[in-house]
Amino acid sequence: MNKRPLYFDYAATTPVDERVIKVMVECLGFNGNFGNPASSSHAFGQQARQSVEQARRQVAELVGAQPEQIVWTSGATESNNLALKGVAQARGIAGGHIITSQIEHKAILDTAKQLQDAGIAVTFLVPDADGLITPQAVSEAMREDTFLVSLMLVNNELGTVNDIPAIGQVVRNRGALFHVDAAQGAGKVAIDLAEWPVDLMSFSAHKLYGPKGIGALYVGLRTQQRLLAQIHGGGHEGGLRSGTLATHQIVAMGEAFALAAASFDEEKALIVGLRERLLKQLLGIAGVRLNGSPTQRIPHTLSLTFSEGEFNSTALLASIAFSATSACNSASNAPSHVLLALGHDARAASRTIRLSLGRFTTEQDIDQAAQLIKAACASAPAFWQ
Ligand SMILES: *Cc1c(COP(=O)(O)O)cnc(C)c1O
Repeated sequence: MNKRPLYFDYAATTPVDERVIKVMVECLGFNGNFGNPASSSHAFGQQARQSVEQARRQVAELVGAQPEQIVWTSGATESNNLALKGVAQARGIAGGHIITSQIEHKAILDTAKQLQDAGIAVTFLVPDADGLITPQAVSEAMREDTFLVSLMLVNNELGTVNDIPAIGQVVRNRGALFHVDAAQGAGKVAIDLAEWPVDLMSFSAHKLYGPKGIGALYVGLRTQQRLLAQIHGGGHEGGLRSGTLATHQIVAMGEAFALAAASFDEEKALIVGLRERLLKQLLGIAGVRLNGSPTQRIPHTLSLTFSEGEFNSTALLASIAFSATSACNSASNAPSHVLLALGHDARAASRTIRLSLGRFTTEQDIDQAAQLIKAACASAPAFWQ
C-alpha cells in the first residue's frame, strides 16, 4: 500500500476517537445495547433510552444547555435545514425577512435560497476584510419584518470566530430569533447557551471525533412552539424530528462531546503550539498571506494564499491531505465563495489552501508539511525566493 498523505483536513472531517468507537460498537450486537429507545415496555428499550439520555446530557453539558433542549438529527446539514425551514414555516404567514451571510456553509446558503424562492426576503451580509460579521452590520440589516438571523460561530474555511454573544444581543433587542451554525465551533470555542442570547444552534459529531451521520439542534426556550418539524413519522424528539433514534451514533456523539469537554484547555494549548510551529516555518515564504482575522480565530484552521506564480497544490496533495477550497465546494470545483466574498479573485482563490489541525497532528507532521509546502513554493518561478 502507498504511504498515506499527512492529514491536514480536520475541518472537513475527523477520524473517530478510539474511545468513541468503543462505546459505539457496544450498541450494536445481540450482547450489546441494541434495543430501540422507543421500546419503553422492556429492558432492551429502557437501557437504550438511558444511554440516549446520557448522551443528550453530555452534548448539553459541553455547550451550557439543558438536556431537553437538544434534538438529535442526522448532522449539522439537517439541523440547519430544520432551524431555517422550521422557523419560517411555523410563522404561518407569507413573506418576512431573514439575515444570513455570504460566507456561511452551503447547508445554510442553499436552504436560505430555497426560502427565497418561497417568497421570503433574504439578506446575505458581506463579511468585513477580516472575514467577520460585525454586530453593527447585523444591526444595519435588520428590518421591521426580520424574523430570523442565521450566522456561523466559526467559519469552516478561515477559522474566524464571530462575536456571537454581541450579535445575539442585537438580534434579541429587535425581537427576531437567532440561529447559529456551530459545527466548527463546538469543542474549540467555549459556548455557554445558558448565557448567550441564541435561540437555535447546530452541531455535528464528525467534526469533533465522532461518527458521520449524527448531529443535534439546540432549541432554546424562545423557539419552542415556533419551530415546525421537517421529518414526520412517530413524533420522536418531542415531535420535532421523527425516526428511530440511532443509539450507536448518539452514544458516540455524547462520548465525543464529553471527551472534548474533558480535554478542552489541554487540547487548545496543544493546537496553539502546533499552529505556531507551522506558521513560523511558513510565514518565511515570500508573499504568503493568512486569510481572516489574525486574532479572532481558532488555532485549528489556517487559510493561506500564496503569491503569484505556479504554486502547485495538485502535486502537493499527493503528500498532504488539505482542502484546496472547502471540502463542501470541492465537488463543484468552483472557486471558494468564502474567498470571493473576502474580495479575492478566482486566481487568488486557486492559490489558497486550507490546512486544519487536530487531535492526532504531531510536531513531526507539522515539520514535514512545512518542508513540503516550502519545496512546492521553491519549485515555482524565481520571485518566490
Ligand atoms: C461540516 C459543516 C456542516 C455540515 O455538517 P454535516 O454534519 O456534515 O451535515 C455545516 N456547517 C458547517 C460550518 C460545517 O463545517
